[in-house]
Amino acid sequence: MKVALVGNQNSGKTTLFNYLTGMNAKIGNWPGVTIEKKTGIIKGTKHEITDLPGIYSLSPYSIEEDISRKFVFDEKPDVIINIVDATAIERSLYLTTQLMELDCKVIVALNMADLLEKRGIIIDVKKLENALGTKVFKISALKETGIDELVKEIDSKDDLTRTKTYDEKIEKAILDISKKISGEHKRFIAVKLLEMDSRFYDKNSKEIDDIRKNLESNYDTDLEEVIATERYDFIEKTKKECVAEKENQVTFSDKLDKVFLNKWIAFPIFVIVMFLVYYLSVGVVGSATVDWVADNMDAFGGWVGENLENAGASEWVNSLVVDGIIAGVGAVLGFVPQLIILFLCISLLETTGYMSRIALLFDKIFRRLGMSGKSLIPFIVGSGCSVPGIMGTRIIENQDEREMTSILVPFIPCSAKLPIISLFAGYFFADNSGLASASLYFFAIIVIIVSAFILSRTRFKHVSSSYISELPDYKVPSVKYVAKDVFDKVLAFIKRAGSVILICSIVIWFLLSFSFKMEYGVDIEDSMLASIGKKVSWVFYPMLGQNNWGATVSAIQGLVAKEQVVSSMAVIAGLAEDVEEGSQIFAEGTPFAGITAASAYAFMVFNLFSAPCFGAIGAMQRELGSTKRMLKAVLFQTTCAWILATIVYQIGSRIENGTLNLANVIVIAVIAIVVLCIIISKFKKGKDGCASCPYCDSCK
Ligand code: GDP
Ligand code: MG
Repeated sequence: MKVALVGNQNSGKTTLFNYLTGMNAKIGNWPGVTIEKKTGIIKGTKHEITDLPGIYSLSPYSIEEDISRKFVFDEKPDVIINIVDATAIERSLYLTTQLMELDCKVIVALNMADLLEKRGIIIDVKKLENALGTKVFKISALKETGIDELVKEIDSKDDLTRTKTYDEKIEKAILDISKKISGEHKRFIAVKLLEMDSRFYDKNSKEIDDIRKNLESNYDTDLEEVIATERYDFIEKTKKECVAEKENQVTFSDKLDKVFLNKWIAFPIFVIVMFLVYYLSVGVVGSATVDWVADNMDAFGGWVGENLENAGASEWVNSLVVDGIIAGVGAVLGFVPQLIILFLCISLLETTGYMSRIALLFDKIFRRLGMSGKSLIPFIVGSGCSVPGIMGTRIIENQDEREMTSILVPFIPCSAKLPIISLFAGYFFADNSGLASASLYFFAIIVIIVSAFILSRTRFKHVSSSYISELPDYKVPSVKYVAKDVFDKVLAFIKRAGSVILICSIVIWFLLSFSFKMEYGVDIEDSMLASIGKKVSWVFYPMLGQNNWGATVSAIQGLVAKEQVVSSMAVIAGLAEDVEEGSQIFAEGTPFAGITAASAYAFMVFNLFSAPCFGAIGAMQRELGSTKRMLKAVLFQTTCAWILATIVYQIGSRIENGTLNLANVIVIAVIAIVVLCIIISKFKKGKDGCASCPYCDSCK
């Protein structure tokens, strides 16, 4: 049998799905984490179950609703398990009323039953069953209670008659229309026809149109509104009958929100939290562990080299393994301890529910930039990896908002950029490496805000549609889940080191060890890589203050994978040792010797903002819908990166040698702002408009 899990976001669908199937789909407590549907088999049965994205209705207002609705109509599940958050039943029942109109069997699972007592909520299941006309079960997906009965019910026959939700006149019209249409889900489609839902409505069908017009003449407003109102009335009535609540319960979450969402301190808390995350992973733990890993990697390289030599391997094979593969892959693996801390921090922020508060916090600001707080979620996911971050933009209903977010997500430092930041910040800003890393994070935020401001006034319409209307409760994170989450992410990172980085390292070693005449062991300056790098190094001159072929070819490889930048530098410098300290990568005699603090920061900036890796570029193409738009986006990102890096170097190098002329800087800045304003005003599209939302004054 085919079973579908349908419910609001955060109702616990994925938790239940994982428990039922023994799979490990990603669980999150904010909207949009489940974007694509996942299918598995319920353990101990033959039922196929699908975890659908969270939705609030079956009207196709967002991509998720569209996916779910298509699933119901095209894949024809036999049973729908409607997961309802038992602690907020009235919010979920709107969807339930729509599901009840479908022909398939619907079972309601009141999830989070474990929280009911604490909240002082009592639900009369029998009464609810009668009110809805479907089977209802109290379960806890997290505490794994009540689920066996629910699974048993899948096999049993649906013997309850569904309750009628609407007044007599509407019910009669539904019946009349049902007689005139064929196929499945007649009641559902009849309601949609009354609502004039564009997917079903056909203005040529005169008979149905007459029924609708006839019915409409009984009401002042359009039928869609009448039907919605009737649904809400039904829900209110049902709730009154079946649910008893203690008044005005101030929950623990409410108390915490008084602090974390406080008007004055919420934002400083966020800054401190984010600073701590980066300080911990890059600064403290990073410098403590990375040396150790790098030393061992180096010892390992030496050991392998010795053994290869003893076994009679020729010099170039030895070099390929030690200087190519071990140096390249090892350079990336050296950052694993830092990533564990970074992923751990992010996972904790997610699972405790604080991340959702951050999203809400930014909602107002983001809305002014043509995005919504929902856009923040892709950004935060993107700090792990841009690919899921970009895919996460699908939770945003408005297309312009969604596309703009997917272009800006790669600007946030992802985990693969961390090795670059860590290497350069660690070496050039030794004692202040944590500060330098965190400063890049905030630099990224500023660039995103400015870019969003410009894009929403030029390329995209300034429309904000979605807003965050609910917050999950704070939760003590589950150790099992956090451990699994961190493990999965670290494993994915290591896998990349073992695949993409491995291959790239071999290619780089080859280009570095041979000249175009195919001679092995030539001076590094005569290698193929150096020749190629020297041809294009002028592009990077303005941000490095020198023609540096090593940095040039490394930055270009960042296109394949950002981790590869550091790997490539390690291979070019011929060493994996002390990568964190950078003392050998940047030593005299290597191509990187001339890099200064200013050019180091500029180089980090370039790598941070330039086109992301191939994986993320692919994700961008999928979300933007065409190669042309993807190329435009990549061009936009890389141009931004080049300009910013150049500005950083030009200012930084003048600070470095003490020739900064404040008057010049101010004059140039003023001119730049004026030019920017002129450009924006030229491109500005019509009047700003926005859909109804609880924030901006014009809507009130
Ligand atoms: P989905 O959006 O519907 O897929 O919801 P998830 O499965 O991702 O769960 C959202 C959040 O609710 C997660 O933090 C879960 O740990 C939590 N959760 C799920 N089921 C329960 C439950 O039965 N009780 C409690 N207390 N929390 C739950
Ligand atoms: Mg989910």
